Amino acid sequence: MTKAVTWDAKTDSCDVGSTSIRRVVDLESLPFAANMIYPDAVPSELQELSSRFGAQHFDQNSFDLLLSFHAFLVRNGKHTILVDLCCGNDKDRPTRPAWHMRNGPFLDNLAKAGVQPTDIDFVMCTHLHADHVGWNTQLIDGAWVPTFPKAQYLFAEKEFTHWQREHEKNPPEPVLYGSYLDSVLPVIDSGQAQLVKSNHQVDNGIHMEAAYGHTPGNVIIHVEDTDGHAILCGDAIHHPIQLAHPEWSTNFCTDPVQSRETRMAFLNDYADTQTAILPAHFQAPDYGRIEQDGKSYRLAGH
Ligand SMILES: [Zn+2]
Repeated sequence: MTKAVTWDAKTDSCDVGSTSIRRVVDLESLPFAANMIYPDAVPSELQELSSRFGAQHFDQNSFDLLLSFHAFLVRNGKHTILVDLCCGNDKDRPTRPAWHMRNGPFLDNLAKAGVQPTDIDFVMCTHLHADHVGWNTQLIDGAWVPTFPKAQYLFAEKEFTHWQREHEKNPPEPVLYGSYLDSVLPVIDSGQAQLVKSNHQVDNGIHMEAAYGHTPGNVIIHVEDTDGHAILCGDAIHHPIQLAHPEWSTNFCTDPVQSRETRMAFLNDYADTQTAILPAHFQAPDYGRIEQDGKSYRLAGH
């Protein structure tokens, strides 16, 4: 029988059988007004939701939502994989001040996990939004080059093709705040990108699954072992507030209706199971099981 995968707050990691998953932080506790992310958020409800989910996920005075931007490092003895590459350094994002011209310690945090950029053999992005591709590249001598020189970067073909078309439609308009040009295209140009089907299997027990809606080619990533199951679910769910309100899609979803259907089916499938849910923006240490709570859901143990 599958065992529950439990997140160890001390090591910021969990084990799925013999595969380890560790969080590598780029940015944490970034505040966002609830309405800035969720158009359906009701201001009068925020105080209650804020005390329900606690100071880890909500500023207790302003009731702003707090989000983390981290990658997950997946190691199974054979492969060293990074999933969702956050915001990056030196990226020109004038309309996104928190992501603009950063000088953050992401690579130091990776080194603390005992991993050098040359150790990474696969990079995977659940989708190509600017906060999931940033560390794909770094600025060296004025040029954007892949940060992980030996890695194959796996992009879902459906996702890549969508943004490529958007880019070709509006050449003067920077697509994805400029990240298509500085964090995706250089990887294609270097020959390190592989365009894959939405259900691509990377290795035994590590595979992608379509979870369309947040973006047209959005995927989630399963890590499975006879002993356990975790899902790196990217932005299928952004913040615990969507456990209380699974029907709320974000302002950043390309298809809010499809995004809602995908999220509600996902939560319904995995609530009250042993599967650990590891979203791309939940604050530590709330990665783990979810439970049904009437018509909505809660983090197990809360
Ligand atoms: Zn995101």
